[in-house]
Amino acid sequence: MLVSLEAKLINRKYLDSVKELVKPHTPQYCYQCAKCTSACTASKVIPEYKPHLIVALTRMGLIKQLLDSGIIWACTECWKCGEYCPQNVAPVEVIIALKNLAVASGYRPPEDLIAMARNVIELGRISPPIEVLSKEFEIYSRESLNLPPLVRPYAHESMRKTLKDLLGGL
Ligand code: SF4
Ligand code: SF4
Repeated sequence: MLVSLEAKLINRKYLDSVKELVKPHTPQYCYQCAKCTSACTASKVIPEYKPHLIVALTRMGLIKQLLDSGIIWACTECWKCGEYCPQNVAPVEVIIALKNLAVASGYRPPEDLIAMARNVIELGRISPPIEVLSKEFEIYSRESLNLPPLVRPYAHESMRKTLKDLLGGL
């Protein structure tokens, strides 16, 4: 009974796609030491986010469950886990592969990520310039510092078109 339940949970198509995407990062060498999780900044803020468990669930083929949970979007792609891993697994690469697979399979990323992508397309950066607070609680903006307006990045039009094509309906 248990065997047939596990077989139903594992989606062969998902597993093959992830295997293909993460091949160079050898998740099969992970021995679950959890050093990646102890290094992970996202884990400090979201305790249920544990990159070593994401690697373990991916190896078990429970990929649809991972994508349905949405937990992969908590990864900031800071790469600390890759630096700490004694086995050269780089959980971040497994997670990026899962994110790519999620978008290709029709999952919608969090709205904040979509807003950032929209800003990159429209402005060439992830956010418009923002005001900042000094140690003395004074507010500074580019204008108050007499800084010129930001210029659009080089080749912005072709970058916009490429990004729009890449992001498709998002
Ligand atoms: S640090 Fe590397 S070997 Fe250890 S649990 Fe994380 S991915 Fe696996
Ligand atoms: S890349 Fe992602 S999983 Fe790795 S340490 Fe950074 S936030 Fe954590």
